[in-house]
Amino acid sequence: MATIFSKIVAGEIPSYKVAEDDKFYAFLDINPLVKGHTLVVPKKEVDYIYDLSDEELAAMHVFAKHVALAIQKAFPCRKVGEAVIGLEVPHAHIHLIPIQNESDMLFSNPKLKLSDEEFKSIEERIHNAWEGKA
Ligand code: AMP
Repeated sequence: MATIFSKIVAGEIPSYKVAEDDKFYAFLDINPLVKGHTLVVPKKEVDYIYDLSDEELAAMHVFAKHVALAIQKAFPCRKVGEAVIGLEVPHAHIHLIPIQNESDMLFSNPKLKLSDEEFKSIEERIHNAWEGKA
């Protein structure tokens, strides 16, 4: 059965898409730690990120880098932190989180509750900053 992230990539489930190419897709985490919290997924359905080939993993990180640069442009921060957890959704993904402090990366922190309008505005800001956009 397709994962929820494959359904997002296929457009069967809506998402706030910030970037896409032929192999990867980036969209806003629906339970963000901070504004701009983004997920990067491979279109190929693989559960564990380290089951990707070396080439696929490298390409995913290059894609993630450019999404991170767009996030930082859209949401000025000290750095964009990266995390791989993957216990909840069995489809490899990288969390990209704009941080001011180390504690912004704590997944035990309460998640933000954002309106559809707020998500759309964040989506637009990051997408507009993404250099790979069509
Ligand atoms: P983990 O697998 O522990 O890295 O967590 C999965 C992440 O996916 C969580 O931060 C969820 O908020 C996020 N997530 C789950 N479903 C969706 C969805 N439909 N759209 C956006 N983010 C989601």
